[in-house]
Amino acid sequence: MAMKLTVIGCSPAWPNPGGAHSGYLVEGPRRLLLDCGPGVLPRLRASENWPRVDAIVITHFHLDHWGDLVPWVWGTMYGLGSESAQPELWLPPGGADHLATLGKRLGFPDMFERTFRLRQYEDATPFEAAGLSVTPLQLPHYMLETYGLRVANARRTLAYSGDAAPSARLVELARGADLFLCEATLERGELDGEPRGHLAADEAVAAHEEAGAKRLLLTHRPAELDLDPVLERAYDGLELEL
Ligand SMILES: [Zn+2]
Ligand SMILES: [Zn+2]
Repeated sequence: MAMKLTVIGCSPAWPNPGGAHSGYLVEGPRRLLLDCGPGVLPRLRASENWPRVDAIVITHFHLDHWGDLVPWVWGTMYGLGSESAQPELWLPPGGADHLATLGKRLGFPDMFERTFRLRQYEDATPFEAAGLSVTPLQLPHYMLETYGLRVANARRTLAYSGDAAPSARLVELARGADLFLCEATLERGELDGEPRGHLAADEAVAAHEEAGAKRLLLTHRPAELDLDPVLERAYDGLELEL
């Protein structure tokens, strides 16, 4: 059984022109969505009335990685989503409480738990979602608790950095993966804040090489930043088989 990746959206914290924020659909053969930033839901709806997704995994609570869970709620309560099965929603530790707090401000305290089957993962503890094995690894990303995801079926492994600074754990995440979907947000590493939170393209390449991953796909990169043409750059709508 192979694995298929579709880049639904790959913008950084501000949207690329016409782009959606982070959202990566993995099919192998059931359907797992990695992150669900603003613009992801309408993209998914372009090919079906309401997305048929078995599970969603959120890497961290920066808005560009989870924002479209909010309209997903409204579409489930009042729209075509009411006819679909509830997806599992896998969250970082404490994520269910965090969503309940946000729900109080955005609508209802239980709006997310009425829409999704809430689950919380733990660092370095594999779980199964949509028939795939997912291992979250906590990675440095400024001061926010953030995870990268290693997604595997019997034959293929995809490593997704989420948002991350350079670290030994990032290399561990990507070790031997068939595809390393890695952020390359920065023009240069020294332009980052302190503590660091993102990667420059050369840092993503270094992590990829140290990890011995097979293919590198760079993402979460502002459209206005160049990239060496020998490197593969994600774009919304890209589909590839691992
Ligand atoms: Zn981000
Ligand atoms: Zn972030």
